[in-house]
Amino acid sequence: MRSGQGIEAIREKVKTGTRVSREESAWLFEHATDAELQALASRVRARFHPPGQATYLKMAIVNYTNVCVARCDYCAFYRFPDQPDTYLLSFEQVCEKIDQLRALGGTMVGFNGGFHPDLGVEHYTHLFARVRDRYPDMSFYEMTVAEFMFVAKRAKRSYDEVAEAFAACGTRWITGGGAEILDDAFRLRHSPGKYKVEDYYAAQKAILDAGMGSTATMVIGFDESLDERMNHLERLRRFQDEAEGRLSSFLCWTYKPFHTDLGGEEVPLREYLRWLAVCRIHLDNIVHVRTSVLTRNEDALQGLLWGANDFDLPTEDEVTQKAGATISHEFEAVLASAGELGFSVLRRAPFPVGPGRAATPAA
Ligand code: SF4
Repeated sequence: MRSGQGIEAIREKVKTGTRVSREESAWLFEHATDAELQALASRVRARFHPPGQATYLKMAIVNYTNVCVARCDYCAFYRFPDQPDTYLLSFEQVCEKIDQLRALGGTMVGFNGGFHPDLGVEHYTHLFARVRDRYPDMSFYEMTVAEFMFVAKRAKRSYDEVAEAFAACGTRWITGGGAEILDDAFRLRHSPGKYKVEDYYAAQKAILDAGMGSTATMVIGFDESLDERMNHLERLRRFQDEAEGRLSSFLCWTYKPFHTDLGGEEVPLREYLRWLAVCRIHLDNIVHVRTSVLTRNEDALQGLLWGANDFDLPTEDEVTQKAGATISHEFEAVLASAGELGFSVLRRAPFPVGPGRAATPAA
C-alpha cells in the first residue's frame, strides 16, 4: 500500500463507517503518524461514546490458587502442585480479600487462578454461589475462558454441558482472560499445554450460548509478530460478528517480563498506545475498549486519547504483580490525570450481560 493513497482510503472508510481490512490496520500500526492514529481511533470511539467522557470502576483480581499445570513460559505466578509455596484460598480467605476491596470502595471482583488438577466443576460452582450469597450487591467475573476449558476437560464433559452447569448455579460472567495472543504458532511456542485457538472460541461460544456474559482480551509484548497480532484481531472481530455483539468489552494490556522464564523487556508506552488505537479501529463491533491501568498505571489514561473509553482502578492482582506490575491505591491521582487530558470520568456500574451497551453510573 502506498502511503498517500493508503491513508486517504482508510480515512474515507473510517469516516463512512466502512470496515478496514487486516492489511490496512497493519499498515496503520507501522506507518501512520501518532496524530493520524489518534484521530482515526477517536472517530471510531465517537460512534459509541461522547468525546471527552470516560468511565471506570474499582475492582480486585482475587487469585484463589497459584497451582497450575499449564507451564506458560511468560507466567511468573504459577507453581506446580508438588512445590512448597503453593496455596488454595479457603472461602473465608476469599471473603477477607473481598472485604478489603469493599473497604477501598470496589464493586467488582475478577477471580483468576491456575489450572488446578484437583478442583472439579462443583468446587467452583459451590464457591462462587457462596460468594454471591454473601455479597449480593457486588459483581463477579467468576473465571476466565482458559480456566473454564481446563475444568471442562478435567471433568471430561463438553463445553456446553459445563457452561450450562455454571449458568444454572447463578454464574453471570466467565471472561475472555487467558487469551494473550490468539494465534496457534504463538501458543505452541509459549503455552502448548493451554489450548488451541479454535478450542478457545468453541468454549467462549458455549459460555455465551448458556446465557452468561464474556469479554475479549489481548496481551502484547512477548515476541509475537505483527501477523500474529493481526490474526488475533481478525478472528476476534469475526467471532464478535458471529456472536452478534455479545462480548461486552475488549481490554488490551502489556506483558510484564520480570521473573518469567521468557523474560524480555516491556513494550514502550508509545507502542502500547499505537496498538490500542489499531484495536479500536479494527474492532469496530466492540463497544467498550478499555485501557490497562493494571500494567501501565496512570500512563494508561493516555489511552483515552487513542480510542479507549473505559478503565479499571485495580486494587490487587498477584499474577501481574509477581511479574513486575505495581498497583497504586492513590486512586485520586490516577483520576486526576484523566482530567489533565481533558476527560471527565464517571464511576460506572458493572456492564450488564449481553451486547455491549452504554455504561450507567454506579449506584
Ligand atoms: S498464565 Fe495461567 S495457565 Fe499459564 S501458567 Fe500462568 S496461571 Fe497457568
